[in-house]
Order: sequence, then C-alpha cells, then structure tokens
Amino acid sequence: MARIKRSDTRPEKIVRSLLHKLGYRFRIQLKGVPGRPDVAFVKRRVAIMVHGCFWHAHGCPSANLPKTRAEFWEAKFKANKERDLRLQAAAEAAGWRCLVIWECETKDKAALATRLSADLGPTRLSRVDRDAFKGAR
Ligand SMILES: [Zn+2]
Repeated sequence: MARIKRSDTRPEKIVRSLLHKLGYRFRIQLKGVPGRPDVAFVKRRVAIMVHGCFWHAHGCPSANLPKTRAEFWEAKFKANKERDLRLQAAAEAAGWRCLVIWECETKDKAALATRLSADLGPTRLSRVDRDAFKGAR
C-alpha cells in the first residue's frame, strides 16, 4: 500500500498545499493559458509550472539519465525540454510571468516557501497593487 501513498507527495501537490498554507488563492490547470500551468494566479498573471526532474531533464542528481537506451532517452528529454520552452514562451507572449518549480526544490519546503513568497509578493493584492500589476503588463 506504500505505493498508493506516493501520490500524496507528488511535486504539484506539495506546491499547491504550500501555497495554500501561505495564504495564496489560485487556479489549477487553467485553460486558455499555453501549457495549462499547474497553478495560475489570474490577477497577478503568474503561472507556475512544476516540472518533474526526470521527465523534464533537469540535469540535477535526481534526474540521472537511464543507463539503457541512452539515445532514445536523450531524444525524448530533448523533445520534452523544447516543448517546455515553447509553452513557456507562448505563455509569456500572452502576458504571463512563468515560474518553474523543479521537483527537487519541493524537498526543502522551507526554502520553497521563501522563494514562492519572494516571487509572488503579498497574498492579498490591494486595488493599488492590482493596478500596478496591470500597468506592468
Ligand atoms: Zn531537479
């Protein structure tokens, strides 16, 4: 049964529950944003993409290249990476600021919380802040 529990620790879930604890309100897998980001802050126009280190080829210690069929995996990872960059560029072109959170970053929740707070700013936007965000677009 230990395998079933694993889904509770998926990186997206960690990021969402952390954001929730910090007091942020957000939408998940918002349609109409390129790449359908895992988490989207509509008023802030910030999209968070949570990337698994293996599939998105982070190149960190938790993303070791498989020992067999190296060529197959290299092509696969290259395609994934290109897709990530393309979707991110499309989201940015549509006025979204993209934050990429890597799976390995979700292991240190305190550090991740600090980073998210710094990147996102106050949990509640005042009217003035909202106008400032609009102006920044
Ligand atoms: Zn990583």
